[in-house]
Amino acid sequence: MTGGELILLVWNDLVGLSRTRGVPVSEYDRRRSHGLGWALAGQSLTPFEDIAPNPWGPMDEVRQTPDDSTRRRIGFTENLPPLHLVLCDSLNADGAPWECCTRGFMRRALADLEAETGLRLHIAYENEFLLTGEGMEWAAPFSVDSIRRVAPFADLCTAALLDADVGLETFEPEYGVGQYEVSCGPATGVSGADRVVITRETVREAARQCGLRASFTPKPAPDAVGNGCHLHLSLWDGKGQAAAFDPDGPGQLSPVAAQFVAGVQRHLPALAALTAPSPVSYLRLGPHHWACGYDAVGVQNREAAIRICPSPDPAPATRADAFNIEIRATDATASPYLAVGAVARAGLEGIRASLPAPTMIDEDPDEMGAGKRAELGVKELPSSLAAALDALTADETARGWFTPTMLEAYTSLKRLEAETYAASTPGRMCERYARAY
Ligand code: GLU
Ligand code: MG
Repeated sequence: MTGGELILLVWNDLVGLSRTRGVPVSEYDRRRSHGLGWALAGQSLTPFEDIAPNPWGPMDEVRQTPDDSTRRRIGFTENLPPLHLVLCDSLNADGAPWECCTRGFMRRALADLEAETGLRLHIAYENEFLLTGEGMEWAAPFSVDSIRRVAPFADLCTAALLDADVGLETFEPEYGVGQYEVSCGPATGVSGADRVVITRETVREAARQCGLRASFTPKPAPDAVGNGCHLHLSLWDGKGQAAAFDPDGPGQLSPVAAQFVAGVQRHLPALAALTAPSPVSYLRLGPHHWACGYDAVGVQNREAAIRICPSPDPAPATRADAFNIEIRATDATASPYLAVGAVARAGLEGIRASLPAPTMIDEDPDEMGAGKRAELGVKELPSSLAAALDALTADETARGWFTPTMLEAYTSLKRLEAETYAASTPGRMCERYARAY
C-alpha cells in the first residue's frame, strides 16, 4: 500500500476555531474551484457539541473554497506525516462571498478602510500558549531552564514555523508555568490573520508530535496566568510609507492614527464581544495581570487596553516603520479575522468622525482611583461576555458592521456560551475551553 496524504481544507469560524474537511492530495486539484460543502448551520457550532439557534436550520450550504496562495505543506519529523493545509473562503453557490465568512468580513473591512482613507493596515500577533504534559512542572519564569526543558519541542516547532512561512520572529518562555509565546512579523491584508491560524495549528501539531499539548485558551485555570493574543497594528499610505507616526503628536501618533485609535477606544466595549469573546476571556481581562481592565490608551502602558509602542529605531528616517499600536484586550478564542475586521471598522469610524486624540494614560488605571479615572474619561471594560454582548447590542454603529443575519448568528452563539458558563463552574469551564482552544 502506498502512503496517502491528506490536505486539510481549513476555515476559521465565528467561534475562532479552525474547522476542517480533508481530501487526498490527489483530489485537491478537482476541489480547488468549488471546494467542499458545509452546512450553513455549521457556522453556529459552539466550541463544544452544541449548535446554537440559528437563521438556517437544516437548509443550504456554503462552499469552503481553497485560497491556493495559503497552501502549506509543513514538515515535522521524517517519520511523521506533514501538516498539509489550505485556508478557505466560504462562498455561496454562485461564487460570491458568504455574508458570514470571517475571512470575507475582514477583507471587506480592510477594503473599506483603504477605499475611504487610502490606508492599509499591517498587523502582527503575539501568541501566548500553555504546554501541558510530562516534564512541565514549575521552572523560573522567562528562564533558559524553562525553554531548554522543552528544547525538542521548541526546535521542532521553530523548524515547522519557518517551513510554514508565517514570519516567525521570536519564540520565548513566558511568565506562567508551562507558558510560551511565539511572535510573528507584520503582514498586510487577510494574510496577517492567516498567519495566526497557521501558527496556532503548527504549534499544536509540534506539541502533539512531542507528546505534549498546546492550548491558547485565555485562562487555563481560574488562578493561572492568562494567555493573551495581542494584536499589533500600524497604518501605511498608498506610497508604502508608514502613516501612524508623528514625533510631535500625542503619544507620537499622527493625526489620522490618533483618530483611528480614538475610534477603537470608543467602541472597545462592543469590540470586546469580538476580541475577548468567551466567558473565560473575562477571567483573564482585569487589572494587575497586564491583561487590562480599562479602556485606557497609553505609551508603553501594559495595563492599558491600547498600548502605543514607540520604535526602538534611533534613525529618524526609519523610526516610523516600527512604530505600532497594540490592542491588548484580545485573546485566542476570537477569530483573528473577526477581531481585526472589527478593529479596522472601529478605527475607520474614528477617522470618519475626526475624533479627538485619546488622553495618554501613563500609570496603572486601577491605581488611579475612581475620581481620577472619571476625570480622564477612563472606563472599565465589560466584566463578562454577557456585558460585552449587551454593549455590542447597544452600539448602533458597531451593529452596522455586520449584516443582520451575521449579527443574529454571532450573538445567538455567544449568548449560548455565556449561558453554558453560567450553568457550570469557572474551573470546569476553564478546562473545557483549554481543551477546545
Ligand atoms: N499574559 C498576559 C496577557 O494575558 C500578557 C503578558 C505580556 O505582556 O506579555 O495578556
Ligand atoms: Mg507575552
